[in-house]
This record gives sequence, structure tokens and C-alpha cells, in this order.
Amino acid sequence: MSRLDIHQFISRSDNFAVLIHDPETGAIASIDAPDAADIRRELAAKGWKLSHILVTHHHADHTDGILPLKSETGCKVIGPKAEASRIQGLDQLVAEGDTFKVGNIQVDVIDTPGHTAGHISLVLPDHKTAFVADTLFVMGCGRIIEGNPEMMWNSLQKIARLPKDTDLYCGHEYTVANAKFALAIEPNNQKLVERAAQVTAMRARNALTQPTRVDIELETNPFLRPHVPAIRERLGMKDKKDWEVFAEIRERKNRS
Ligand code: ZN
Ligand code: FE
Repeated sequence: MSRLDIHQFISRSDNFAVLIHDPETGAIASIDAPDAADIRRELAAKGWKLSHILVTHHHADHTDGILPLKSETGCKVIGPKAEASRIQGLDQLVAEGDTFKVGNIQVDVIDTPGHTAGHISLVLPDHKTAFVADTLFVMGCGRIIEGNPEMMWNSLQKIARLPKDTDLYCGHEYTVANAKFALAIEPNNQKLVERAAQVTAMRARNALTQPTRVDIELETNPFLRPHVPAIRERLGMKDKKDWEVFAEIRERKNRS
């Protein structure tokens, strides 16, 4: 199995920008393109030449850098078929079940609608890594802007079913606020209490809180835990379906 280098940094105010590098071929992909100048600067610092941009959804904070970077580098832009009319500069359209390569790195596409109607996530099965953008955040989940709660719940379940040791990279550094909210939903989850303290300390020294991992999220992310009796009890939703409990947690986060 080939190696993979990942370089991440904050762009704009709170977007995670991520560059992946295949050392065997020199291929470099940017996961989304929050800001051309930020990505250009980091590429130059690394001595890397952009070959691909992989787009998860149409929002400006994920797409603003596409056209300038494409015209400078001639990179290939791959993104969601379902949002083709809303994203400029796409060269290849993909949807669930599609697989493509960045250099020698295999990338599998899954549909994860809910935040936007055509949002995709990208899974690198050989590297146990997935890029989930604004579907799942560390201890949180994306706002449901174009979808409905059941749709978002199904998308989160696809991520939860990835191999437990899969590293997850998200779209935004919202971790400390998410941890606070998670503690309000599940104050007696000891793993969550410990993790909240850990990520707060990390942010205090300006460290980034991702990647997270599927097993860690299953233990600490309230949006993946609507089946937990203590949460159901606290919300007064003992007999509801998981997605209904999820919807209530999302609703409370919107108001928090
Ligand atoms: Zn978004
Ligand atoms: Fe975003």
C-alpha cells in the first residue's frame, strides 16, 4: 500500500483546508477550495504543485478558490454530479459508487446529502481516511440546510458504518463549541467529559482537533448517539425512532 501525506490548515475563519499528497506520483489534491490565496501559500511552502481539487458541495466557503487555482495550475476538478449546475469549473462529475484516482490513491464516493442536497463524502479505503466536509464535525454535525433530518441521519449512518479506525476530516473547526453542546446533551458520558477537556486544551495552544476517528465519534458525538437511553430519557423521547431523537438534538443545537 502506498503512503499518503496530509497537510491541513485553517482557512478563512474556521474552514479546515486539507491537501493530500501521493509521494509515489507527486499528485496533490486539495479537498475543497475555501480560499485560493491560502492554498497557494501552503502549496508554495511545501513545494507542491496542485493536480486535483475534490469538491464536496457547492457552498462558497468550499468552492471560492476553484476557478483561480484551476486557471493557475490546470488542475482537474472533481465534484458532485448532483450539484453540477451550482459549481463552476468541474471537469468530472461523481456520485455514490464512483471511484477515481489521485495519482495512485483510490478515492471512493459516497452520497451524504442533508447539509446540501448533493453533498458527497470521499473515502480513501487503502488509507482508512474519509473527508466528510459539512456532514459530520468533531462531536457535531452540519446544519440541515437543503435536506431533512431523516436524510442527514442516513448520511451520518454511512459514515458511522465505515471501519472503526477510519480517520475523519471535516469541513470546519467548530470542536470546542460542539463539545460544550455535547456535554449539555450527555453530561455523564465520561469519555465525552475527558475529550472535551482534551480538545479545549488543544485549541488553547492552537492545535487542530482533527482528524477524528469513527470509533471516537461513536463514543462522544451526540448526533451519532440517539439510541443511548440516558440521552432519550433526558430529552423525554424514550419511545421515538433514532432519527427523531437525532432531529431533536439538531433542533436544540440550532437554538443553542
Ligand atoms: Zn457548507
Ligand atoms: Fe462549510
